[in-house]
Amino acid sequence: MKSHAQAVVIGGGVVGVSVLYHLTKLGWKDVVLIERSELTSGSTWHAAGGCHTLNSDPQVAKLQSYTIDLYKEIEEISGQETGFRLTGGVFLAVTPERMELLKVMQSQERLLGIETELLTPKECEKILPIMDPNQFLGALYTPMHGHLAPADVTHAYAKAAKIQGAEIYLRNRVVDTVQREDGTWDVVTEQGTIHADHVVNAGGLWARECGRMVGLELPILAMEHMYLITEDMPEVAEVNRTTGKEVLHVVDPDGEIYMRQERGGMLMGTYEKGGVPWSPKETPWDFGHELLQEDIDRIAPSLEVGFAHFPPFQRAGIKQIINGPFTFAPDGNPLVGPIRGLKNYWVACGVMAGFSQGGGVGLSLASWMVNGDPGFDIWGMDVARFGDWTTMAYTNAKVRENYSRRFKVTFPNEELPAARPLRTTPIYERQKAMNAVFGVAYGMEQALWYAPEGMEPVENITFLRSNAFPHIKAEAQNVRENVGVCDISSFAKYEITGPNAESWLNRMLACKMPKAGRMTLAPMLNHQGNVIGDFTLAKLDDERFFIFGSGMGEMYHMRWFEENLPEEGGVDIKAYGMGLLGLSIAGPKSRALLEKLTGEDCSKEAFKFLDIKEMSVGMVPALVGRVTFTGDLGYEMWVKPEMQARLFDDILEAGAEFGIMPFGSRAMRSLSLEKSFGSWATEYRPIYGPYAANMGRFVDLTKNDCIGLEAARREKEEGPEKRLVTFTIDVNEIDVMGNEPIYRDGEIVGYVTSGSFAHYIDKSVAMGYVPNDMADDETDGAFAIEIFGDMRPATISSQPLWDPNAERMRG
Ligand SMILES: Cc1cc2nc3c(=O)[nH]c(=O)nc-3n(C[C@H](O)[C@H](O)[C@H](O)COP(=O)(O)OP(=O)(O)OC[C@H]3O[C@@H](n4cnc5c(N)ncnc54)[C@H](O)[C@@H]3O)c2cc1C
Repeated sequence: MKSHAQAVVIGGGVVGVSVLYHLTKLGWKDVVLIERSELTSGSTWHAAGGCHTLNSDPQVAKLQSYTIDLYKEIEEISGQETGFRLTGGVFLAVTPERMELLKVMQSQERLLGIETELLTPKECEKILPIMDPNQFLGALYTPMHGHLAPADVTHAYAKAAKIQGAEIYLRNRVVDTVQREDGTWDVVTEQGTIHADHVVNAGGLWARECGRMVGLELPILAMEHMYLITEDMPEVAEVNRTTGKEVLHVVDPDGEIYMRQERGGMLMGTYEKGGVPWSPKETPWDFGHELLQEDIDRIAPSLEVGFAHFPPFQRAGIKQIINGPFTFAPDGNPLVGPIRGLKNYWVACGVMAGFSQGGGVGLSLASWMVNGDPGFDIWGMDVARFGDWTTMAYTNAKVRENYSRRFKVTFPNEELPAARPLRTTPIYERQKAMNAVFGVAYGMEQALWYAPEGMEPVENITFLRSNAFPHIKAEAQNVRENVGVCDISSFAKYEITGPNAESWLNRMLACKMPKAGRMTLAPMLNHQGNVIGDFTLAKLDDERFFIFGSGMGEMYHMRWFEENLPEEGGVDIKAYGMGLLGLSIAGPKSRALLEKLTGEDCSKEAFKFLDIKEMSVGMVPALVGRVTFTGDLGYEMWVKPEMQARLFDDILEAGAEFGIMPFGSRAMRSLSLEKSFGSWATEYRPIYGPYAANMGRFVDLTKNDCIGLEAARREKEEGPEKRLVTFTIDVNEIDVMGNEPIYRDGEIVGYVTSGSFAHYIDKSVAMGYVPNDMADDETDGAFAIEIFGDMRPATISSQPLWDPNAERMRG
């Protein structure tokens, strides 16, 4: 065994070998994989081997598409067959909601350039004779669905990696990973120690145990999963004989069933409702190539539905039932990336669809390690999307929920109940008493909207506009005409102090530094010049600054801040989390309200737009900034948690004479859309530069030594490829939910990043990126946005739809 390697990958499942292969593909040859037993000794060996491109996140879908294309490549390099067959497949619908979703899936496939077909049950029966057409409303045919031999794929990746320079050590468990002072790693194995620059935890079923070696508790949990294999079926032989092809892959989500041909029979798997976690606390090291006890009773209800939907199964003998464990993160997406505070320690785990996603996970992680950037927008898979509040019990509750809903329709306004409430602010009970309907963001309860007195605070889940619509409208209207109060505690807040704070911020953020007592909007760029943060930066004095940003970006941003702290020191950064809470008042009467609460002159001369100061608001000491995400006249107030409730009460009491009403995050988004304000992870993503994202005016190109500025200069000179625009859409009863394709002259030219109904201007609005040369075309209906298969005329508005000259915000 080598004594040193550039990178050591722990785990020889499909994910570990993919990471290893991609490291060699990107030019790192001195790389090693260590496997406790034989390759495939975790979940990989007993997987059903199905793969497809469909994912509700188009960025993840793109990586799934890459994964499927990769099988040919690794076969060619390794000479090892993967058993990959692109059979094509159908997704079936039993309910009208599912039919609607099939249309959404069709447009998502179009975004990848994949043409699919919506079929009636009778049309579908022609290509899938084993179904009972009377059980279904329709189907979506997709060519990009297939299956493969899991062990062969794993060996093909491994051989290809070895041909390209990697080494693999089998039957050798990693027992510890110890970081040296210089940040490099000693990987201690049963056969000795390897000194490595980088370590990748691709431990699959044991990723938690590997994580614990470095004090990391990864939010993953294994669930038992069962599928059955039938004896040979004459109906299968008949399909093979008459078509010369295999039976299509099938996903029958309403029946909670997936299936495919397996030799002369069929393989049928199910995600049953009462899923059972496996080894919830610790995965035994001696677990290997064995299966779990099958439990036919548990999956019987799903099988019964399956047998009714596909009658030939009623006559088929069952040859084998497989029950094996595999891991999930709380939201079902993988955990990929570097770990905050552990230099050169990377994870690639929680991958529940290794054969659809393993290639993309390997590519993005290897790119991140080799080039310093994943090269894709992988926010949906980034391990940093979870904070330190994801305890084992939280993960257990969310994973069980996710497993039981694997195939369920999730509506865009649906808030899932498991593990809630977890993080609440002191005004949570007050908001509840005021009939708030809550959602959750980064584990935190957030008032979405307030139901009027006498109405049960429950939102009907729907693709259409819900029962919340008139109440959100009333909240938005009250902000624009009077004043509203909103809990903004879910924002991230960072305090940066020290003698080098200013020079460091000047390097980290692309904006001009504000003067003391002032704030500015502050894009943060990565080395490639792409936007990795959209903040408000406040300077309190020469050595004290605050940054306010997206709450769910806290771990992501802290990871970047800490990676880039100056070697010479002199900068302290603190993420407050729930240690500093906020309330915002917004609307034309907010100034009068603030004056009443503070007794101070808050005129536009005395308290200008983007001023920030420490004030006593009523009895409560607060940091007050003149800015709000509503784009209206307004203020954000930051206070210690123990005083937030008092401030809330005082604001409501003093605000009564101004017609104050609380408003929730839905009204907030509705109002911010009227101003074309984007948000982190939807509009502002690490694949677009500041000029693409319309943030160019906040970039100070005259600065030196600022991360990403060189690239930003080039982006400005050459012009961005795409640009963020705001559309109004001609629709009734329905608004976009995000990720819809944008068309012009029948061609897809972009996709929607987010949108909603903009209540005050009374229009349906969406934001999205389109080619730069189209971004100024305001011709009425020049674009179309596909909503549930329906092409709706859409018109770009270059100016904010409300208060385009920002008179209210600045006045
Ligand atoms: C019944 C079933 C059906 C499935 N069907 C499908 C499907 O149809 N399509 C699909 O895409 N996915 C499917 N999956 C999921 C798929 O199996 C997983 O996504 C995939 O196997 C995850 O691979 P992995 O490499 O992350 O983890 P694993 O396969 O668990 O591999 C981890 C490896 O790391 C090794 N290891 C761990 N710790 C150490 C250590 N300390 N030292 C050395 N080595 C270590 C282990 O021995 C193991 O070999 C299915 C899973 C099951 C259980």
